[in-house]
Amino acid sequence: MRAQVLRKPGPVESSPLLMEEVEPPTPGRLEVRIKVLACGICLTDKHIIEGEIPLIKSPIIPGHQIVGIIDQLGEGVDRAKMGLLVGIPWLHSTCCHCYYCNMDLENLCDQATFTGYHCNGGYAEYALARIDYLVELEENPDPIKVAPLLCAGVVGYRSYKLSTIKPGQKLGIFGFGSAASLTIQVATNFDVDVEVYTRSLEHRKMALALGATVAEDAMAAPGRNLDAAIMFAPSGDLIRVALQSLRKSGFLAVNAIHTSPIPSMSYDLLYQEKCIKTVTNATREDAREFFDLATSIPIKSTTVSYPLEKANEALVDLKKSKLCGSAVLSMV
Ligand SMILES: [Zn+2]
Ligand SMILES: [Zn+2]
Repeated sequence: MRAQVLRKPGPVESSPLLMEEVEPPTPGRLEVRIKVLACGICLTDKHIIEGEIPLIKSPIIPGHQIVGIIDQLGEGVDRAKMGLLVGIPWLHSTCCHCYYCNMDLENLCDQATFTGYHCNGGYAEYALARIDYLVELEENPDPIKVAPLLCAGVVGYRSYKLSTIKPGQKLGIFGFGSAASLTIQVATNFDVDVEVYTRSLEHRKMALALGATVAEDAMAAPGRNLDAAIMFAPSGDLIRVALQSLRKSGFLAVNAIHTSPIPSMSYDLLYQEKCIKTVTNATREDAREFFDLATSIPIKSTTVSYPLEKANEALVDLKKSKLCGSAVLSMV
């Protein structure tokens, strides 16, 4: 099969992903093989490919927002699963018995493995997944439109929940990439007043079109008395700005697996019972809840699709914030 393989991390501008012909995978016990139709590109992929997150497996095929059709069953998988359209998220497996798994925090499992990081992902024609960690897609959606929901959507939804925001309150969103453009649709659905702070003029336009009441540069945020904020931009500097935008006892959820360092700051920025919570991965329950909402609202993704061989270019566009919406690799 054709696959984009990472052998050595490097700046995406140097095209670190190599298009190779590799052996298609064979599913093991409780695994299935998926014929990949589309794979969303996540900011986490960029962090892995550029070495901002250390590699665990090398070489690795990245990609963890996979939509495809089950075309081979491993031992122990019900035959009725053959041919189903499914999504594969970031969470590949957990141990199911550690402290965190027992506390409904499987996203923090000590033994968790992740798609496109511990095991090969979806920048390829075929990928493997554990049958009990898949999202079954019931209707007949467009694979390209669904792909970004699998990580950007699900983890954005977890950030929304952890931000403690309530209907009628004022939520700040910092940065407006793929995850933010989906999360704002959850927020407005629950009658939350959303203010978006981002550098990009295109992103501000998109935010207003999706229901934001304010769309400005982040420098306009301090003093806004927000009830809560979600940080989507991987910027330590902006975390300080976001804290200045909160009211007393305001809550900041940071949706990032990696950010630039947070500069030292005065305790005054946190005093008055302000809170910061980092958001780490997502549980299967988050995925189930989010996909139910995505169908009922319904949530619409804006996508820019690229053929598999253009993965490096797509990552450059993502890095330079050139995209409005979500980048998706299309295999069809
Ligand atoms: Zn566990
Ligand atoms: Zn992701």
